[in-house]
Amino acid sequence: MRLITDFRSANFSERQDVINSLVIHSTEVPFEDSMNILLGKTHMQVSAHYLIDLNGDIYELVSPEKIAWHAGESYWRGREKLNRYSIGIELVDTDGQAKYVGFAAKQISSLIELCHFLVKKYPIDQTNIVAHSDIAPARKKDPGVDFPWDVMAKEGIGVFYDADEIIKDKTVKCGLGDRNDHVFLAKKLLSAIGYKVDISDIFEKDFECVVEAFKRRFYPQDISGFLNVETFEILHNLARKCSISDN
Ligand SMILES: [Zn+2]
Repeated sequence: MRLITDFRSANFSERQDVINSLVIHSTEVPFEDSMNILLGKTHMQVSAHYLIDLNGDIYELVSPEKIAWHAGESYWRGREKLNRYSIGIELVDTDGQAKYVGFAAKQISSLIELCHFLVKKYPIDQTNIVAHSDIAPARKKDPGVDFPWDVMAKEGIGVFYDADEIIKDKTVKCGLGDRNDHVFLAKKLLSAIGYKVDISDIFEKDFECVVEAFKRRFYPQDISGFLNVETFEILHNLARKCSISDN
């Protein structure tokens, strides 16, 4: 794996905590703009450890030994302010004409290689390989519905559910404003996976953001903020995997 280390960001701070997470982002602007922003050349107080261009080139902008400023206010599996514990990887998803193009195969190959390298080097748990939208559901949508979490999981990076265990044709459904046992169960399951959830039987606005973040990652074919039996089955499957990895 070739890391391009010729460009270093001005935005970083000293790290005190052990690295245990990877946060995946997409930049939503072309490569040049992504570089300028992440290197600290604009007014924005942001950075990331790595930027991967559409052609698969990997730029290391901040050493993982330092904190990069990519996560912002965030929560995952009992921890807040994920910058302290994580490595941030940004993917360019926009071409030179400022058109959104999603992710390129070469770019995903580079990302998989980089993730394998980092998972070997640092004590990163598979359940802590997350989307920016997972850790800040009310604020962030990146890397978005086109990011191939299923492909990543097949390559041994991050968790995904087992499609053959999912039951598809029942009629349970819950959404915003509902108050019942399904809501309570859904909250327990999403909390077990890692999301920040206020456990109760009430489906409130904040919880709708969490459901949307969960669906953006695991059920991108329909990211509306309600849960049906199929998504419940996915939740059960993932919660089981995540609690197994806690042991
Ligand atoms: Zn982001």
